[in-house]
Amino acid sequence: MTKRQEIATPSRTREILNKYDLSAKKSLGQNFIIDTNILRNIVKTAAVDENTTVIEVGPGIGALTEQIAKEAKEVFAFEIDDRLLSVLADTLSPYENVTILHQDILEVDFEQFKEKYLENTTRLVVIANLPYYITTPIIMHLIESSLAVDEMVLMMQKEVASRLEAKPSTKAYGSLSIALQYYMDVEVAFTVPRTVFMPQPNVDSAIIQLKTLKEPPVHIKNELLFFKVVRASFVQRRKTIWNNLKKTIGDKNKEQELKEAFQKANVDPSRRGESLTIEEFGQLADALVSCNLEDSFL
Ligand code: SAM
Repeated sequence: MTKRQEIATPSRTREILNKYDLSAKKSLGQNFIIDTNILRNIVKTAAVDENTTVIEVGPGIGALTEQIAKEAKEVFAFEIDDRLLSVLADTLSPYENVTILHQDILEVDFEQFKEKYLENTTRLVVIANLPYYITTPIIMHLIESSLAVDEMVLMMQKEVASRLEAKPSTKAYGSLSIALQYYMDVEVAFTVPRTVFMPQPNVDSAIIQLKTLKEPPVHIKNELLFFKVVRASFVQRRKTIWNNLKKTIGDKNKEQELKEAFQKANVDPSRRGESLTIEEFGQLADALVSCNLEDSFL
């Protein structure tokens, strides 16, 4: 058998798309990578080795899957588009450690998946060139699942990557940055120009590396309240945190308790939400519990 060219080259990608009479579906965020070096770099960033089990979201025609399969113990790749199933069976036929699962990643029951496939897993990593239209739902779905993911290495729109890693007092910092940084250590690994995709998207991309924290950066009394307070603090970014929280509570009689909570947390109520660290949001959420304002948010 003659050795096949790797999938992530312009000529092989074109050949595969022609052979199966496929065109990329914009509605499913299909932009295929045609640069093997970038894919190898993604796999390297995730430190994939023979002890690593990988979950991939959206294998497409198998370009990234192929590079993962060469290094990993096993790859489980979730693809929603049924047109790609026979393509993947063909392009990935040399790799016995790949399992393609025809499912919407947002609908996956990870409890069942874990029982069926992950019994002997020592290191679990998620790698994806994400469909950009559902970047945040996918990340949150994976974080909130019962999977013990050690690390995620994900390609996404550059602007979204900046929001995920943003620090306080920057324009990109918001409830999404905090929601993620509560669970993960977040870092942009490298950026990717739009020219390495077929078809080319209208935006540049970045690879983000997320490492699961052993412990959250703050210990808080009520996590649900913490996240509600964070979201409420950013409802109107340009307003003070006092105004945003007062509006959420919506009861004039509780202003005194709210004032006390700010004092207790040692947070100046005239600041904007975007200037507060995760730790300060934690102190504030705990103070709201102490001042009996929990129910006003939940
Ligand atoms: N991994 C390939 C690559 O790098 O060339 C393709 C990446 S493409 C940006 C995104 C892929 O995600 C497409 O194959 C698309 O069909 C798939 N996809 C879109 N929505 C999905 C969903 N909800 N669940 C699983 N896969 C999805």
